[in-house]
Amino acid sequence: MTSPTAPIDPVDPGDLADPDVLRPRLPSPLQEIEDERFARRGVRLLLKRDDLIHPDIPGNKWRKLVPNLRAAAAAGHSTLLTFGGAYSNHLRATAAAGRLLGFATIGVVRGEELADRPLNPSLARCAADGMRLHFVSRAEYRRRTDPLLLDALRERFGAFAPLPEGGSNAAAVHGCAELGRELRGLAEVVGVACGTGGTLAGLAAGLAPGQRAIGFPVLRGGFLDAEAERLQRAAFGARTGDWRLEDRFHGGGYARQTPELDAFASDFAARHGLSPERVYVAKMLYGLTVLAEEGALTPGTTVAAVITGAPEPGPPA
Ligand SMILES: *Cc1c(COP(=O)(O)O)cnc(C)c1O
Repeated sequence: MTSPTAPIDPVDPGDLADPDVLRPRLPSPLQEIEDERFARRGVRLLLKRDDLIHPDIPGNKWRKLVPNLRAAAAAGHSTLLTFGGAYSNHLRATAAAGRLLGFATIGVVRGEELADRPLNPSLARCAADGMRLHFVSRAEYRRRTDPLLLDALRERFGAFAPLPEGGSNAAAVHGCAELGRELRGLAEVVGVACGTGGTLAGLAAGLAPGQRAIGFPVLRGGFLDAEAERLQRAAFGARTGDWRLEDRFHGGGYARQTPELDAFASDFAARHGLSPERVYVAKMLYGLTVLAEEGALTPGTTVAAVITGAPEPGPPA
């Protein structure tokens, strides 16, 4: 494996049609694990290791970003601008992709008060990868889809290709459909954690008839069904595939943890030697385990749990 910090020569955006520089591990590995809580119910558990796709741009972020980078390069852009919170995995992945591919990146970060504080490890890594950070108030951040705000940002920073928060748009959803296609014939049920719902929207569209996807939102609010459907309409023109949401496992909201969830994640690491990423992946694995224990998964079912990302990296070396 190449070191995540090994320098890679910037590529001309025109070369992006074949982004060899990204060297993804695709299809991502599928790993069966023995877990008695599933086995007792006659259910097989597979881990779809999207966290191993790329050392710097893991998981669903690779699947979502690369089609967008291609589109930006094709449109002649050399700068990407996107949006996120102070701990956004998406901002980190965008900064890394920018470094690897020779794109300038600008991150619009929610919270103007952060401008006067030392950067947290996640934002420090963005900055180390060359991302220019622009802190805005919550009121301004709420206008992130307003064309007038994008115009104002263009006046400030020059031309850029905009990427929505979380990187979820039609191109990203198409990229995630490949995740579903990789799982055809391999599992009846697929579990995935959801932030914006873009990954679920693509995954469900890529599965074959007879396979279904269950999304586990990590945010509260119940808006996600409409949002994932909106993304499917943008990408495919209609709601597509067999999918639903399990809204019981957000643990209080984004980045919130409960003692049960914490205990579950530590126990999962001890059982299987895989420490689940806590913001998303642990909530999905916990939800699937509860569904298995409740008998909600028919005996004989094979379940694939998508490991959409790896645990937080530390601060830049
Ligand atoms: C960003 C992220 C998600 C959420 O993906 P969406 O497409 O926004 O639903 C899930 N898991 C991990 C590890 C992530 O970083």
